[in-house]
Amino acid sequence: MPVKFADRMSTVHRSFIREILKVTEDTSIISFAGGLPNPELFPVADLEAAAVGVFQDSGPQSLQYSTTEGYLPLREYIAARYKEKKGIDVSPDEILITSGSQQCLDLLGKVLLNAGDKVIIERPGYLGAIQSFSMFQADFITVDLEADGPNLAELEAALNQDKVKMFYAVTNFQNPSGLTYSAEKRAGVAKLMKGRDTLFIEDDPYGELRFRGESHPPVVRGYLDEGGILLGSFSKVAAPGFRLGWMVCGGEMRDKLIIAKQASDLHTSTFAQRVMHRYLTDNVLDDHIEKIKERYGKQRDVMVESIKKYFPAEVKITEPEGGMFLWATLPESLSAMDFFDEAIKNKVAFVPGRPFYVDDSGENTLRLNFSNSDEERIVEGIKRLGAGLKDFIAR
Ligand code: PMP
Repeated sequence: MPVKFADRMSTVHRSFIREILKVTEDTSIISFAGGLPNPELFPVADLEAAAVGVFQDSGPQSLQYSTTEGYLPLREYIAARYKEKKGIDVSPDEILITSGSQQCLDLLGKVLLNAGDKVIIERPGYLGAIQSFSMFQADFITVDLEADGPNLAELEAALNQDKVKMFYAVTNFQNPSGLTYSAEKRAGVAKLMKGRDTLFIEDDPYGELRFRGESHPPVVRGYLDEGGILLGSFSKVAAPGFRLGWMVCGGEMRDKLIIAKQASDLHTSTFAQRVMHRYLTDNVLDDHIEKIKERYGKQRDVMVESIKKYFPAEVKITEPEGGMFLWATLPESLSAMDFFDEAIKNKVAFVPGRPFYVDDSGENTLRLNFSNSDEERIVEGIKRLGAGLKDFIAR
């Protein structure tokens, strides 16, 4: 019997990246395709000790249903960290714990978007957000992401359109491009957003992974109570398998998000929240983040150096100061999709950039992940890609 699916399913597709990841399950392929943190850096023993401690000290409570808002001590930890690291005053009551920050995108879509509402996203943009908002039949307006942040003239024009519900942005070491908003662009965005009824959704899962250079306060600092919403995650600083993220927002918006979350999953895993909280209080997160930054920083350097050595000069790359990805742009006429098939023959993989563009542009771009391969494999993989690119360009 042919199933009559909901209209919303007609605009979404399986994640192209998940399809690629299937190809790269073959371990002989050096993969720069995934967006995975390095599992060697997961704090397994410390999390194990935290889990045992939670079972011993609060077994029944940790296995019981709990509140939709999330475990209060965990929210207090997050609020204290914002104060310490970013100078932002956030009340634990303004934090909603979610099942990964990906759930924030789904909940925001649920409470905000009617079919045909407009969402501004960066070009290229985070695929998970494109997928989430597409489920609510959003109409995307894209704003070019330049080396130092969004093109402000394009942003202003986009904001001046009707029915624009939100601007979704990844301001630090963006997925996919690795780009970060400069202080000037942050001020420019804040100025453009102020006083409008369009929400600014700032998604920042990578901000703490800065290897060098100065970090910037979030754009929403100073107007969190006026339509700024900040998303965070433990996925990149601790472990993604815990599925723990959060959203900072107050007032009626938070009430609506809580209703949507209740309808969706009642609450995020009580056990996961308590174990993460115990891990965070029994250990020093900054020490762990230092280890991640040291490793990713070296891997990023090796990737950039290898690209400079082995890639044809026509290929341009971003050189991020943090995060997990860098972005390459091939000469205009070339297709990274076509090159992907060639690369797989040479047993190396990346993600072609086109899925990160809602307007089918970006054919000549690609994303390279440096967090999840050791230095030796990075050199070898980039060497193979470089040799392949020289052939591909010469054809
Ligand atoms: N936002 C961005 C920009 C991401 O790159 C990711 C992870 N790929 C997420 C959100 C979702 O992360 P999580 O649900 O694991 O917190």
